[in-house]
Amino acid sequence: MSILPITVFGDDILRKKAAPVTEIKDDIVEIVDNMFSTMINANGIGLAANQVGINRRIFVIDVSAVEGYEKFKPMVFINPKIVSKSDELESFEEGCLSIPELKANVIRPKGIEISFYDLNMKEHKMETDDLVARVIQHELDHLNGVLFIDYLDEETKKKIKKHLNKIKNRKVEVNYPITKSPNYLLYK
Ligand code: ZN
Repeated sequence: MSILPITVFGDDILRKKAAPVTEIKDDIVEIVDNMFSTMINANGIGLAANQVGINRRIFVIDVSAVEGYEKFKPMVFINPKIVSKSDELESFEEGCLSIPELKANVIRPKGIEISFYDLNMKEHKMETDDLVARVIQHELDHLNGVLFIDYLDEETKKKIKKHLNKIKNRKVEVNYPITKSPNYLLYK
């Protein structure tokens, strides 16, 4: 298992719609393994494939370090789709390994139903809410080129512009490896 550099705000691949996985070969298994070690090394609770330069519809989550979620096992989601969303919305503070040193409240549906495939290409359906639904929605957005900062109001967007430029120029301090170029691509 290896720790991969994480793409940051400004990197091209973070704004691209990731391609579906059509077949699970050894390379995909290795990618998922590396995504887990990269996420854990960065103390993240979710990581999308394009955050490590991989243009595929895959994300991993592990919320077991969060109080109250100790029993929740790490999971991989391949070709995920949101089937339904609750009418009830919830505001919750989000952060992102690709946008270091920034946190903001984002309003999203409180609960979701999601379909996805596992590493055996077996289809699953899952209903979940609160933190897990939050992480899943954030990660699925990544696969569509959407970042949590896109939901902020214009005034807040103006306020964070400087910080985003710093990230773009890699002038932020992070305790995990980040990419060195905005064109970084590991797996096309
Ligand atoms: Zn993120």
